[in-house]
Amino acid sequence: RTVYVNGEYLPEEEAKISVFDRGFLMADAVYEVTSVLGGKLIDFAGHAERLHRSLALLDMRQPVTDEELLAVHRELVARNGIEDGLVYLQVTRGNPGDRDFAFPDPDKVKAGIVLFTQSKPGLADNPAAKTGMKVISIPDIRWGRRDIKTVQLLYPSIGKMMAKKAGCDDAWFVEDEGVVTEGTSNNAYIVKGGRIVTRQLSEDILHGITRAAILRFAREAQMVVEERAFTVAEAQAADEAFVTSASAFVMPVVEIDGVALGSGAPGPVTRRLREIYLEESRKAAI
Ligand code: PMP
Repeated sequence: RTVYVNGEYLPEEEAKISVFDRGFLMADAVYEVTSVLGGKLIDFAGHAERLHRSLALLDMRQPVTDEELLAVHRELVARNGIEDGLVYLQVTRGNPGDRDFAFPDPDKVKAGIVLFTQSKPGLADNPAAKTGMKVISIPDIRWGRRDIKTVQLLYPSIGKMMAKKAGCDDAWFVEDEGVVTEGTSNNAYIVKGGRIVTRQLSEDILHGITRAAILRFAREAQMVVEERAFTVAEAQAADEAFVTSASAFVMPVVEIDGVALGSGAPGPVTRRLREIYLEESRKAAI
């Protein structure tokens, strides 16, 4: 597999990052994951825009232009023959040559950039979309700026492991009073009486690119959308639930903390949104 590191395309075995890179030492880095369907990028513009926002909020500079960024995405997809899969992009504050809590001067230390691809044949035909996922709820003990897409993914990883240990597929983070923020790597939704409910945007959740698309498509299809917080109890009493992310698209949730939702199978609103999302995203892919 060919990867891209700081301006060079290299076989993955030859790619190197300094031990002093702040992404490695301090999780001082942001990332994006863009899905690839039929060899084309899904919502590249949305991911580029969120990258700008994450970088600006952390006072980091983008080391390449948007045109170069798109060109690198396309080049890696082509070189690695990706039909369906993902492009992972990470920008770090770079390598100041030593370990120090203070940020280096951005005029002296250039941000680092890494991209690689992951091939996922049949990404859009994931069998889990037919059966749905089981989730557990766990306390949300992440930091308070979850709207910045940093690589601080230890607790989300632990959450996934807790879910696996409980015989489930994923975890939903909850605050005090059982209010759901989001999934370990996705935004969370419930459907009740035909209304789609998902938490409002704030610093408490990641502003999902798939979320923005889904809400737009839902409104265009005359579905009612409520952007507000909901509890685990409300979710357990809902007709349907689902999550969205760039890699899972729209994924049904059929059980929360051992309680089956509705019929226990993916519901009609979820199935329809998944279909619309895949169809429209493929059309708009670049
Ligand atoms: N929330 C969290 C915590 C995530 O990690 C992700 C995916 N990276 C999402 C939501 C979904 O965002 P997107 O639709 O842009 O992939």
